Amino acid sequence: MKHNFSAGPSILPKPVFKEAAEAVLNFNNSGLSILEISHRSPDFVAVMDETKKLVKGLLGIGDGWQVLFLTGGASTQFFMTVMNLLGKDATAHYIDTGTWSKKAIKEAARLGNINAVASSADKGYTYIPKDVDIPAGGRYLHVTSNNTIFGTQYHSWPQTDSPIVADMSSDIFSRPLDMSKFGLIYCGAQKNLGPAGLTLVILRDDFLADFEPDIPTMLDYRIHIAKDSSFNTPPVFPIYVSMLTLRWLKSNGGLSAMAERNMAKSSLLYAAIDRSPDFKGVVNKEDRSNMNVTFVLSNPEFEPRFLEMCNAAGIVGIKGHRSVGGFRASIYNALPIESVQVLVDVMEQFSAKYGETKSASLRAV
Ligand SMILES: *Cc1c(COP(=O)(O)O)cnc(C)c1O
Repeated sequence: MKHNFSAGPSILPKPVFKEAAEAVLNFNNSGLSILEISHRSPDFVAVMDETKKLVKGLLGIGDGWQVLFLTGGASTQFFMTVMNLLGKDATAHYIDTGTWSKKAIKEAARLGNINAVASSADKGYTYIPKDVDIPAGGRYLHVTSNNTIFGTQYHSWPQTDSPIVADMSSDIFSRPLDMSKFGLIYCGAQKNLGPAGLTLVILRDDFLADFEPDIPTMLDYRIHIAKDSSFNTPPVFPIYVSMLTLRWLKSNGGLSAMAERNMAKSSLLYAAIDRSPDFKGVVNKEDRSNMNVTFVLSNPEFEPRFLEMCNAAGIVGIKGHRSVGGFRASIYNALPIESVQVLVDVMEQFSAKYGETKSASLRAV
């Protein structure tokens, strides 16, 4: 049995894999595969409708919000947001909390007036900037809610008079949200929602209606809204699998139940890191992510041995991002707490074998 801690694409609920596999062979008992039917067929339109309903139901939003199924990844939203939302005379504020927000800022700065109001680059992105002074009157404030690579997460939203635009690629649907703070949320589906290929955009109607951009049709939110995400062929299979995940979320108690499960998992793992002299967390404790848990070994020379022990226990995807090193355990919604326990057990076995508390002479080298 494998314990999948991959950062993305990543683990999805077991029953979702099973149902998705069945639909590839025979969708809704139609005698056809989900992969060979028209995106305009009634069966598939029903999938899109249910997915939208589930998104809205889980987030507690109703009319006045749009749910779009797009492509191009979160990375396309880095500039699509700007093209659609930021008029010539307006300014948007950005907070830089890591690799992804830096990329968002870079793309946005090509197209509009961007004001980067805070950054945690000074300390290697190991914290979330607090009490940021955000000038009044901005069109929006852009944040990356969870820093997938370094393992920090917003646990309360910045104070601002403008709506927040959030890249939630790695923590969407992991906890309840106060939606009144947001104008637009986007995410690549491949971390916490479904397969790669779907970009989910959730936006408030009255946030959009500011100016009429002259931009390519495929990049225009208004077109995708008017065409119900079927201006061109939407990512049919990723939408279907995301719907299955959202059904699973709902039947498992929704977002507050998910937040509790995620908190239990992250607490278990952070406690194991904190009580051992052999492991060290890499980010500010109060900003620790409940999705991507990053840590290093006190003695980095032992990394290959720790990895070997992880492999032997069926643990996969735990190596840190190439830009950071160390280890990263991604514990998204679908990862069961039992897998976290397996990792904690391996950490303890590692300490018993190679750890600091063993005297240097006993330590196997
Ligand atoms: C993975 C990730 C991205 C990139 O998503 P793509 O869908 O591959 O473009 C952007 N932002 C965050 C926070 C991510 O974790």
